[in-house]
Amino acid sequence: MRVTFATEAAPGWPNEDFVAAAPDAVVLLDGAGTPPGSDSGCSHGVAWYSRTLGSTLLTAMSQSAGTLAELLSVGIKSVSSLHDGTCDLAHPGSPSATVIMLRRVNDTLEWLVLADSVLLLDVVEAAEPVVVCDDREAQVGALHRAEMDALDSGSVEHVSAHRRYVETLRSYRNRDGGFWVAATDPLAADQALTGSMPADQIRAAALLSDGASRLVDRFHLGTWRHVLDTLDESGPDDVLRQVRAAEQSDPQGTRWPRGKAFDDATALYFRL
Ligand SMILES: [Zn+2]
Repeated sequence: MRVTFATEAAPGWPNEDFVAAAPDAVVLLDGAGTPPGSDSGCSHGVAWYSRTLGSTLLTAMSQSAGTLAELLSVGIKSVSSLHDGTCDLAHPGSPSATVIMLRRVNDTLEWLVLADSVLLLDVVEAAEPVVVCDDREAQVGALHRAEMDALDSGSVEHVSAHRRYVETLRSYRNRDGGFWVAATDPLAADQALTGSMPADQIRAAALLSDGASRLVDRFHLGTWRHVLDTLDESGPDDVLRQVRAAEQSDPQGTRWPRGKAFDDATALYFRL
């Protein structure tokens, strides 16, 4: 398989997305930010969490025969053990991340998707791609974002409404009826969407953090097919360029209300 990817931090902040590839496996994680003025109980931070869990998962996918959900469960436990002596892992804002894992085992392609990063599968002889996305956080979030969305991005009021929004959502994290992410509870792995297909049924796949998928699912500036075609013809850089151009055209979130005017954006494309 041939893999290309691009990742770009939101201006002025460390990149909390993580993407990596091995010959038969890829991972993409999107760390959930701790807004300024909010506490997380962890001295390492969100970027450390997504990078550490992502590298742990990629290593396990290349070396272990367990299911992807088993590897994720073990990976969450393993990263917790790296900082349970120094950090408060019971804190409701402890670092968390979305996870996509995808690997080829012999003639089969297997995937796992937890939380709101998007996996697109370009299936042979299908006009529209299969979209795998766990939108439970968006469903919960829709109930609580009206105040934030009514304010101009970048304003002091929006910054504090965003912080309140993030802190409100913490009470739904890793609970039935809420949404599930990789954080400190290994049981989150059982809540991931998983699947597999014969590899010869899939032309290509794309992995997108929500900072990249917003081109389609928030800005509505194209279809998933458009994203796959762009990745195939001009590469992941071009997808990120289109996202940044859209964000720059609406810096205050008037046309597209959103928590972050600019977000970390990552796109990975692989062709089988
Ligand atoms: Zn820590």
